[in-house]
Amino acid sequence: MTRPIFGVDVMPLGPRADGRNKDGSAKTNPMLVYGPGPEGKRCGDCDHLRDYHYAKHYYKCNEREYSASARTDHRVRWPACAKFEERS
Ligand code: SF4
Repeated sequence: MTRPIFGVDVMPLGPRADGRNKDGSAKTNPMLVYGPGPEGKRCGDCDHLRDYHYAKHYYKCNEREYSASARTDHRVRWPACAKFEERS
């Protein structure tokens, strides 16, 4: 889908139509891409959540794009998405 800017049709910036990066990770919160997961489960119970511990803890989901920005931080209390896998 294109939209005209200054009379020229350009591709919109943002995620691909399937909402993923080239490596298959999600460009946005996996909850929005994959939908809700098992009832009562939280990201903190999921094997995909990574804890990067520096001066404080930064939680990142490896089913999502990684960046040093708070924009891609996750919370352990967030409800699980459909990619949830029980932490081993
Ligand atoms: S449930 Fe797991 S895969 Fe889904 S957003 Fe949370 S950490 Fe990521």
